[in-house]
Amino acid sequence: MSALPVTPRCAALIGGEWVATARTLSVEAPATAAPLAEIARCDAVQVDAAVAAARRAFDGELGDWHQWSARRRGEWLHAFADAIEADAEALVALECADTGKPLSQARGDIAVCARYFRFYAGAADKLHGETIPFDNDFAVLTLREPFGVCAQIIPWNYPSQIFGRCVAAALAAGNSVVLKPAEDACLSVLRLAELAVEAGLPAGALNVVPGLGREAGSALAAHPGIDHLSFTGSPETGTLVTQAAAVHHVPVTMELGGKSPQLVFADADLDSALAAVVRGIIQNAGQTCSAGSRLLVEASCYDEVVSRLAARFSDLRCDAGERDADCGPLINARQREKLESRLAAAQADGIRVAAAGQLADGAPAGGHFVVPQMLVDIPEGHAVTREELFGPVLAVQRFVDEDDAVRLANATEFGLCAGVWTRDGGRQLRLAKRIRSGQVFVNNYGAAGGIELPFGGMGRSGHGREKGFEGLKSYTQLKTVAIRHG
Ligand code: NAD
Repeated sequence: MSALPVTPRCAALIGGEWVATARTLSVEAPATAAPLAEIARCDAVQVDAAVAAARRAFDGELGDWHQWSARRRGEWLHAFADAIEADAEALVALECADTGKPLSQARGDIAVCARYFRFYAGAADKLHGETIPFDNDFAVLTLREPFGVCAQIIPWNYPSQIFGRCVAAALAAGNSVVLKPAEDACLSVLRLAELAVEAGLPAGALNVVPGLGREAGSALAAHPGIDHLSFTGSPETGTLVTQAAAVHHVPVTMELGGKSPQLVFADADLDSALAAVVRGIIQNAGQTCSAGSRLLVEASCYDEVVSRLAARFSDLRCDAGERDADCGPLINARQREKLESRLAAAQADGIRVAAAGQLADGAPAGGHFVVPQMLVDIPEGHAVTREELFGPVLAVQRFVDEDDAVRLANATEFGLCAGVWTRDGGRQLRLAKRIRSGQVFVNNYGAAGGIELPFGGMGRSGHGREKGFEGLKSYTQLKTVAIRHG
């Protein structure tokens, strides 16, 4: 087993206790395929116990979570952010080994995780209802109340960031949580849960049930005892969990995939645009829901953009996360094989690799590496412009004018992000309105990941919003109180 800087508790956290399971799952390092740890393999039995513990914590039968005021919850979230920062180096090393992402990206993820807790710490006591003018003999007010038990199913690509995004907001609003991390990468999440217990979070407020999607995940989504479900992952699994939750009329927030375009006009600052285009597709080896995986270039600057990008792609290097290269491996053999077969099919269809990076000298053998590459000569409507490849692969297309750019940008069932690069102010606004996606970034891509900004999709990218104050509201429900006082 590879040495880890710190081995987290790999059991399930249920009602404040660490519970071992009879069966376990082996977690491997994507950079070497070597085993890293054995984690609990929860099934319906542990999920049932975790939902019951969360219910008891919310109802006041376990611990004192239900009595914590908004201010006290905020104070705890602040203290927990301090604890994450104090443990950052261990968390970074775990995230890096478990996901394979470059060290500097893992460092960024842990910092963002702590920032979520700080942001929602400050927001916890600023969430309030309204009074509504109505007939003279009435006083009408709205109360923003927590749902109760929030189920959260999260993926392997950003375990610590998505933990922060979902758990911090749900706890700040006063819910209790049952979280199912991804079987492929969950060590940082288990460490975070351990830190939360040490930081004095009352029993049952946060429960974590590691395991397989088809066992622990499906049992959680279908559980009649949950009051809200937040899911981040693939559209296909999103459909399954939505159907399961619908049986009990449980509201859902779905953060699914994307096929996000970056539009580069000839009047753009090309230096900034091209640097952001490369970052937007190689970050986390392209395994990012908001990856800018399509590049749409105005015809008049197409040749220049392709040749300048080709030079950048050729310089990119892949290596194990701790060696902090441009790009790490993909998460597992299944993802690598899926991507390789799609790339082979694209080449058979005449699509050309205009440039590609390389494995770094001394990169470990046995890792799930796919080098970053840019594809050109793509027939319109080809699968590589429609399907989420989830790898460091950029599909480049050209457009002739603004209408053509919008047509291509919207030629997708997804609608998560878009980048628009132009100096023309009118065009910036027109495109921001015409592109169908939850986020439009103008002359930047991703707004530096700003956790303050609401984030979510349209169409096949999902619905509901996480992050920012909007994300906090989405973990509450509104109650209307109408008092007739005569
Ligand atoms: P997935 O959607 O199957 O897994 C995400 C989470 O859902 C994991 O925790 C998993 O255990 C759980 N899950 C799986 N099946 C479940 C079920 N039947 N019921 C309840 N929960 C279940 O994703 P994956 O198989 O790991 O990856 C496949 C593809 O999904 C990727 O190629 C990529 O396109 C996409 N993906 C997108 C994101 C994103 O952030 N948008 C994240 C991960 C994967």
